[in-house]
Amino acid sequence: MTEQEIATGASRSPEASVGPEHHHALRDTATEFVRREVLPHLQAWEDAGEVPRELHAAAAKQGLLGIGFPEEVGGSGGTLMDSVVMQEACFAAGASSGLMAALFTSGIALPHIAASGNRDLVDRFVRPTLAGELIGSLAVTEPGGGSDVAGIRTTARRDGDHYVVDGGKTFITSGVRADFVTTAVRTGEPGHTGLSLLVIEKGTPGFTVDRALSKMGWHCSDTAELGFDACRVPLANLVGEEGSGFYQIAEQFVVERISLAVHGYGIAARSLERAAAYARQRETFGKPLMANQVVRHALVEMHRQVEVARAYTHEVVRRHEAGENVVAEACLAKQTAVDTAAHVCDQAVQLHGGTGYLHGTEVERHYRDARILPIGGGADEVLADLAARLLGYA
Ligand SMILES: Cc1cc2nc3c(=O)[nH]c(=O)nc-3n(C[C@H](O)[C@H](O)[C@H](O)COP(=O)(O)OP(=O)(O)OC[C@H]3O[C@@H](n4cnc5c(N)ncnc54)[C@H](O)[C@@H]3O)c2cc1C
Repeated sequence: MTEQEIATGASRSPEASVGPEHHHALRDTATEFVRREVLPHLQAWEDAGEVPRELHAAAAKQGLLGIGFPEEVGGSGGTLMDSVVMQEACFAAGASSGLMAALFTSGIALPHIAASGNRDLVDRFVRPTLAGELIGSLAVTEPGGGSDVAGIRTTARRDGDHYVVDGGKTFITSGVRADFVTTAVRTGEPGHTGLSLLVIEKGTPGFTVDRALSKMGWHCSDTAELGFDACRVPLANLVGEEGSGFYQIAEQFVVERISLAVHGYGIAARSLERAAAYARQRETFGKPLMANQVVRHALVEMHRQVEVARAYTHEVVRRHEAGENVVAEACLAKQTAVDTAAHVCDQAVQLHGGTGYLHGTEVERHYRDARILPIGGGADEVLADLAARLLGYA
């Protein structure tokens, strides 16, 4: 920023405005989608506790739901970076973290099925979901624990041409609305080699949505507790090889963690933008908040953290797309971005004063939504342990 820009109050938005031409078009489409289809209704959906199914169809129509999925499985094609650019634009336009979690649950429910190459499963679940006709969830976490994936207790026992599933899952995003759930089950011995993935459809006898969970944040994202009681699931619904569930989950965690990193610096960037706008117009002691050096420094520190989190996440995405193993780096990117969200969203509330504490003020929502990010998709401590092993600090 030049001295002239500082003097005139002009500032560079921390939104990335660089990149290939098609990223500009993607940003425009995502921005327009959020402004037209989301913002007028977002508070009502937050209050209602879920987003409507029609929103999935609208996102599919714009080609947004399918970004990052190959055209052969019904996706719009494109790379992980395209998906990141699209998500950044949604956050910059005012989408909430909960909205993005609910609308793009397909991003965690489908990749294993798409990668399995099973045409029947792709036709029954991946294509209709990317077309906005079905909603899917991913169910790994159980009431007995989420961090220890290898300790999963929900069992699936073979009986003729079916598995009989018994157990329960909790904290499942979009689980109240989901038409099907990609479910981690134990088909074999204790430990990670005994796990498999099964697609379980709503309406299957013995499968129940036991509870819709109310939460601190992510209010428009429905979260469910699910039960399985002698639930008969066709063998045909097995995703990949029996016993490969843990590896499939671990492989897709890289993309999920990068996406959660985007949530982190995405809501941080938006909170910074809101806070800077407020600091320009709000007056205390006869002058704008922005006229105080301590306020400007706070904004610069928020800006710095957003830039660092975004730049590092982009670098990890670039290395992932180049074929490098970035399991550890995806953990670090997520941790960097969620730390950024924690600091920046907190400061944005602070700069808004009492207004920032009120329900309905946007920064208040981002502040609450930020709290799930160091827990979901791998708690901070668990990711640090994983990174320690991979980086040779064990
Ligand atoms: C809103 C929301 C949406 C979610 N969506 C989904 C979903 O769609 N699908 C799904 O499967 N799950 C989902 N989850 C679950 C989420 O992934 C888990 O909450 C998370 O993995 C942590 O598991 P846990 O809650 O059982 O915590 P626990 O495993 O009981 O851990 C509790 C805490 O202990 C600490 N801890 C754990 N292990 C260690 C360790 N080894 N060393 C040091 N500290 C440790 C961490 O701070 C952790 O937060 C969601 C959760 C929430 C709240």
